[in-house]
Amino acid sequence: MWTHRHLLGIAQLSRDDVLAVLDAAQRWFVMPRAEAKNARVLHGRSIVNLFFESSTRTRTSFEVAGKRLGADVVNVSPQTSSVTKGETLLDTVRNLEALRADALVLRHPASGAAEFVATHTRASIVNAGDGAHEHPTQALLDAFTIRRRGKRFEGLVVAICGDILHSRVARSNAWLLGLLGAEVRLSGPRTLVPRAAEALGPTVRTVTTVEEAVEGADVVMTLRIQTERLAGAMIASTREYAHTFGINERVLARAKPDALVMHPGPINRGVEIDSRVADGPRSVILDQVEAGVAVRMAVLALVIGAGDAQGKQPS
Ligand code: ASP
Repeated sequence: MWTHRHLLGIAQLSRDDVLAVLDAAQRWFVMPRAEAKNARVLHGRSIVNLFFESSTRTRTSFEVAGKRLGADVVNVSPQTSSVTKGETLLDTVRNLEALRADALVLRHPASGAAEFVATHTRASIVNAGDGAHEHPTQALLDAFTIRRRGKRFEGLVVAICGDILHSRVARSNAWLLGLLGAEVRLSGPRTLVPRAAEALGPTVRTVTTVEEAVEGADVVMTLRIQTERLAGAMIASTREYAHTFGINERVLARAKPDALVMHPGPINRGVEIDSRVADGPRSVILDQVEAGVAVRMAVLALVIGAGDAQGKQPS
């Protein structure tokens, strides 16, 4: 049974919690849109998307998900809000709560922002990415995509390549894939792989070259260099990076013939991924985006439902 009023990170979830989201998402995924709308699971509820960092996929996906469940969804962008007048994160959140928001979907550059806010609000908090810490719905939609492609997690080999150090996607995926029994290989320039990467889970290990990571892999996940977190200064040049760490057809040939190519987006073509791979037959990048809506419908319904059941006391 799902008991979490907030979704702050994969680290707080059990294997059963993850499977509960994936199963609920599966039901939303196959349900015709009109039927989902008629079910009006979140009719009369309000969801606020509060994004302090840029986003195309995640914000739109949460908006579509909330609306498909019958909720009212409002987008607040800090650039045009009172944040520019000096209002703190907590005051912004308290004011949105006073407007009776049932859930706040928060993206923030500071690691731990979602957890901090969750201790001060009655609304459900969904972490849509906090700094380099976690991006739980991305990892859940990645797992959903892998499962939909008929792969089993037990013994699955997943290569995660690129800027591991600054990637909340890598962190959430390492936790989640470990919970489900997959082996995770991390690879990237030495400056962009954390020293204690193995602490991300018992099935996680770092390897030196991208070729080694991809050898025999079932899934190849590639990541953008997080220039907004100053990662650009940690590589010699993007050209050299693309040459040594980029996923192209030559590198991909080392993976299993039916390997999936994944990327959370936005992709930087010709840097971490070659266009022929991104648009190739093994790419499931757009499947990931599609899966995002069903996964976020599941998450919103579950956390708001848990909040109702718990009488929404600040945690
Ligand atoms: N969209 C993902 C994130 O917000 C990945 C990225 O931006 O590179 O973390």
